[in-house]
Amino acid sequence: MYLEQLLTSLYEKFNGDERSGIHVSDLTLCPRKSVWRKLNPEPCTPRDLNFFSSGRSIHDSIQTLANHNKKKFEIEKELSWEGISGHVDLVDTENNIPIECKSARVKTMDVVKPHYVSQLKAYMAILGSKTGVVLVQLLMHFDDKPFVEFEITMDEEEMNTTKQKLLLDKEFYLMALEKKDPMLARGVTKDKDLDWLCRNCPHYADCLKNDIKEEKKND
Ligand code: SF4
Repeated sequence: MYLEQLLTSLYEKFNGDERSGIHVSDLTLCPRKSVWRKLNPEPCTPRDLNFFSSGRSIHDSIQTLANHNKKKFEIEKELSWEGISGHVDLVDTENNIPIECKSARVKTMDVVKPHYVSQLKAYMAILGSKTGVVLVQLLMHFDDKPFVEFEITMDEEEMNTTKQKLLLDKEFYLMALEKKDPMLARGVTKDKDLDWLCRNCPHYADCLKNDIKEEKKND
């Protein structure tokens, strides 16, 4: 009944004007999957809604609290660089430190997830920040330490490399869209930090076929 309406709204949010252009997350997760979604948007599933609502809850609550200190924090800071846009959850404006708020279905987290870091580093590079923070809510932790913070640092060289990678991914992403061929964009089947994205991806068989084709070409 109402679930269908929420799924339709989520679809419109992901595919409407709000989502036009290239977002940092289109490039830092799987650019190929983003191309597929743009060329052939699929209906949203309850699983998508589950991820959206649980991820959104930490954003909204942390941002509401940060809003009490408007002098120190800017919430949902909009970024735009070389045709790539993004929204940073919070920025400590006194120290130019972007803060990304995440939630994870785990009890503990000793090592920060690489895809949290790659998204934050993209924001850091665009903002020219040498320090950033990932704040994670541990959804399965029911004791007294349900949050962890990870400080991430970068030097000038890494900031430049990060920007170059964003530009390169953007170039192939746009080419893939123009030629209507998602395989031209970077995939993550062989990326040990991101291949978990392939597990529930409807395009996995196509990507594997493409990998085999590429391997044969390089033999
Ligand atoms: S299967 Fe993996 S590489 Fe292919 S589109 Fe999906 S997430 Fe990307």
